Amino acid sequence: MRIVFLFAHPDDETFGCGGTIALYSSRGVLCTVVSATKGEAGRVRDGSVKGSEELGLVRQQELECACKVLGARPPLFMGYMDGTLDSVDEEEAGRRTLSLLVELDPDVVVTFDRWGVYGHRDHRAVHRWVQWAWENWPGRRPRLFYNSPPRSYMQELRKARTVAGRPFDPSDVSDMPPEEYGTPDELVTTRINVSPFLEVKRRAILCHRTQVDPEEIRAFQATEFGPLVGFEFYSLAPGQELAQGIDSDLLAGLV
Ligand SMILES: [Zn+2]
Repeated sequence: MRIVFLFAHPDDETFGCGGTIALYSSRGVLCTVVSATKGEAGRVRDGSVKGSEELGLVRQQELECACKVLGARPPLFMGYMDGTLDSVDEEEAGRRTLSLLVELDPDVVVTFDRWGVYGHRDHRAVHRWVQWAWENWPGRRPRLFYNSPPRSYMQELRKARTVAGRPFDPSDVSDMPPEEYGTPDELVTTRINVSPFLEVKRRAILCHRTQVDPEEIRAFQATEFGPLVGFEFYSLAPGQELAQGIDSDLLAGLV
């Protein structure tokens, strides 16, 4: 079995789906992460990397590190520039996404939903490309899931970060009002218990060293957020059958 996780930037895969990737990889499922960009426009937390070209190279290596830790195959990059996905030709990007996905021949594809976690314009663009690809798939198409942290979860996360003195403010990349971050809870179809893989996820997060502060990881593991981080959340794209067991397994009913 094969699962492709297609996101916009190195680190999207680990924060949203790291436990899931580790879980399925441990069961022998071939997991491939595809990143539309190398994250050239990311904020570098300690200023250790200057220039977008150098940052792209560093973040490519960070994603390679994370995939290795999670047990996934080496990542693939689509070569788009971080921060510009909203302005590329959508149909052309959809076609490229389709041909890449058809070549990878997955049983399941995971990408952003239309909220893009917190409305990041790149995330929402990638959602549209994958949606286009899936709707134009030749023949029998894979199952499509969206990574869908629930709105209630995103609100808890925002609160926790504010309390920790590290407020979450992505207003440079998102026009979405903060109260709309996350997927409406009732649309979430699938919750995966990844608690046995939290240590692996933590190590994968630390691979993204230009993006994370180890202190923040300690906050991430703080008790008030503990019950939430043991799960990762998905919604099945509309138009597909809710197979038995799909509430806790991306591969339910697919053998
Ligand atoms: Zn991202």
